[in-house]
Amino acid sequence: MNLSNLSKILQDEPVFRLKQAREAVSGNLINSWDEATNLPAELREKLKKEVSLEINAQITPGQKSDSQKALIIFDDDEKVETVLMKHKDGRNTVCVSSQVGCPLGCSFCATGKIGFKRNLVADEIVEQAVFWGRMLKKESKAGVIARKPEFVRADEAIPRNTFEEYSSESGSSNSGLLRRPSAMSSGSNDSRVAPRNDEAARIHGVVFMGMGEPFLNYENVLAAIRILNDKDGLNIGARHISISTAGIIEGIKKLAEEPMQINLALSLHAPNDKLRESLMPIAKKYSVKEIFETLDEHTQKTNRRVMIEYIMIKDKNDSDECAKELAGLIKKMKKPLVFVNLILYNPSGRGFFESLRPTGIFKPSSGERTKAFKAILEKEGIEAVQRWRFGDEIGGACGQLIVN
Ligand code: SF4
Repeated sequence: MNLSNLSKILQDEPVFRLKQAREAVSGNLINSWDEATNLPAELREKLKKEVSLEINAQITPGQKSDSQKALIIFDDDEKVETVLMKHKDGRNTVCVSSQVGCPLGCSFCATGKIGFKRNLVADEIVEQAVFWGRMLKKESKAGVIARKPEFVRADEAIPRNTFEEYSSESGSSNSGLLRRPSAMSSGSNDSRVAPRNDEAARIHGVVFMGMGEPFLNYENVLAAIRILNDKDGLNIGARHISISTAGIIEGIKKLAEEPMQINLALSLHAPNDKLRESLMPIAKKYSVKEIFETLDEHTQKTNRRVMIEYIMIKDKNDSDECAKELAGLIKKMKKPLVFVNLILYNPSGRGFFESLRPTGIFKPSSGERTKAFKAILEKEGIEAVQRWRFGDEIGGACGQLIVN
């Protein structure tokens, strides 16, 4: 797909034509300009010649059919991966990449092993969601989607054990230690949450948890979010869009200034600098103390709940001491509107990642250890969940997105 040409091609047309064309692509999810019947025939012919709508992609279906991964190949032959996750309640979440590769080189992450190639432009990020949107539309037409809920109230629509369960700013007390939010907060003007009969085939949420560090490509990521959020396009509520960062504090600060209520997730993975540096080289630049101070400013300013992601790695970061240290960091916050998401380490490199696997370095923590870690956090009044591992059988879980 080559949407970056669009504004150039339409520069001599009335301004609304650009909006109409974009609506056709991401709202009506057209595959060919012939379907854009809101545009004059002559213009459609021109667009057919100048702006390709073809998305070059290869799909890896998940064996459990709750997730699918696709490799998107851009015009310059660079590739990224994206994942579609289908929730049992009928919601669909897309995980997108923001960079080709990643410069941060976290030791547990398959993507980090390939290094950084380039940033994606906004349209390339949107293209990943449009790809899944088209597929869901096609499945729906073919009657494949059998998960249509009859009617789902907003508070019933929140998936269990995922970020969105906890990501809405709750009406709960801002003293904060972390009770389950009462579904969607009142006072929100964003009602785009519940999948009804007629929209079970659409995308309800987008997470920036694929390849790359989104805050190192801030402007393109935010431009993409504005397009994803457009009510005449994919119409994905900002409250259902989440950005995960390895702790780029400039990005966390900037996001707090954005008018849109976008969710923030912090990939922490260790409660002190020494341990964190051994897992994530970026920790040499941003200390845990600085990150938590920034996080605290963010929660105070936005009044929005932040997810702290913590990969459980056997004998590395999963001790009782680590859990207590993490609890201490959170309890020190003035506004600890956070919850901890414990993620079982995915030995990246399974299947076709084998050659890039960090062999023998890490193993996932046991279920018992994870339970004990979680119990310590909970004893301290901190909400902790263990994430449902969507997509791990297709290499589409956290830290597994990589192009072979
Ligand atoms: S975990 Fe995220 S930030 Fe770290 S290398 Fe992988 S993609 Fe980059």
